[in-house]
Amino acid sequence: MMLADKDRIFTNLYGYHDWGLEGAKARGQWDGTAGFIKNGRDWIIDEVKKSGLRGRGGAGFPTGLKWSFMPKESDGRPHYLVVNADESEPGTCKDREIMRNDPHHLVEGCLLAGFAMAAHAGYIYIRGEYIHERHRLQAAIDQAYDAGLLGKNAAGSGWDFDLYLAHGAGAYICGEETALIESLEGKKGMPRLKPPFPANCGLYGCPTTVNNVETIAVVPEILRRGSEWFVGLGRPNNSGTKLFCISGHVNAPCNVEEEMGISFRELIDRHCGGVRGGFDNLLAVIPGGSSVPVVPADQIIDSPMDFDSLRDLKSGLGTAAVIVMDKSTDIIRAIARISYFYKHESCGQCTPCREGTGWMWRVVSRMAEGRAQKREIDMLLEVTKQVEGHTICALGDAAAWPVQGLIRHFRHEIEARIDDYAANPHPEPIREAAE
Ligand code: SF4
Repeated sequence: MMLADKDRIFTNLYGYHDWGLEGAKARGQWDGTAGFIKNGRDWIIDEVKKSGLRGRGGAGFPTGLKWSFMPKESDGRPHYLVVNADESEPGTCKDREIMRNDPHHLVEGCLLAGFAMAAHAGYIYIRGEYIHERHRLQAAIDQAYDAGLLGKNAAGSGWDFDLYLAHGAGAYICGEETALIESLEGKKGMPRLKPPFPANCGLYGCPTTVNNVETIAVVPEILRRGSEWFVGLGRPNNSGTKLFCISGHVNAPCNVEEEMGISFRELIDRHCGGVRGGFDNLLAVIPGGSSVPVVPADQIIDSPMDFDSLRDLKSGLGTAAVIVMDKSTDIIRAIARISYFYKHESCGQCTPCREGTGWMWRVVSRMAEGRAQKREIDMLLEVTKQVEGHTICALGDAAAWPVQGLIRHFRHEIEARIDDYAANPHPEPIREAAE
């Protein structure tokens, strides 16, 4: 399985060509946009449903279905499209390549998605650290306005659509859709309790759909090439192409667009020059950004990289940020570092997350040194279960899963570390994993 060049959506992923409107049009973008809009809202939503597109932001929820949750008729309140460009999951760096090298995919996608949900306004919320990307994306939006592709009668379609870019301040939690909405409204980025869901009561209390950058950016090509084309790529229920960001102990870390369901081995061999020291030197992989559980080498090497296959391995495709770790990795310390991240980013409004993330980080850090009791391993596991599913937003789960993955697959490492320390105790303070 290998994605043919003709099936690539992001043909300027590496910025070798003109990122601007002329270049985008030469690559086929903004072609037939008005015609898609004239086909009507239901046609667009149906095509997206038939394509099997699942959200590229991590959860993998069917996009067309999500759009259909928006009210069919307005009750007088405006509808809003919000694009989540707060790409902050450690390991993930795919949306930034779209925004800085091929931003018109996203701008065109916003118009089409906005029309499909009867929105006359769209907001792209970009993370605070993405300064260059914000400038580039704003320039692309300005180009689209100047060319009549946005604003009144956008692209000659008869639909009025305005697109705004909002810049975050660098909080990971603003990538959670309701925290993002709060932040857009000018408040502290703290997640809201759901229900009500944004489709009923989102931005400014109005029907809103929040989608990831990559999800919106692939929509124009799905409409241009047809849903059957997209379904023909990948595997059943896991269709299309996907941007993978591969980092860690591979010979050539990279971002690459590949067919969904490519095997891990093929992905790494073909695009990253293999694992450092060869596949025999592979220890484990975090396949979807730091929040998904780690998978040991023997389980992942021949696994297809898609939502369902990785779920069957008790992990997930997440954002497809593939973090590869070879046998030189101190896996306990690596997970402790991830725990520190979630502790740091917890917004603090619910107790299991506020207290649990710090507790998990401190215990895993101690375990990384061996300064623990073996009975604490089960206690730690129990605490992760008390955090998971008991919080307002998914950050609690995101903090619990890496620790669960560690215990599930590397309990023997923790025990060996504890035995080593017992045999050779050394009075060392808890090192901050962040150091
Ligand atoms: Fe905030 Fe954590 Fe609760 Fe999410 S789970 S709302 S980040 S305290």
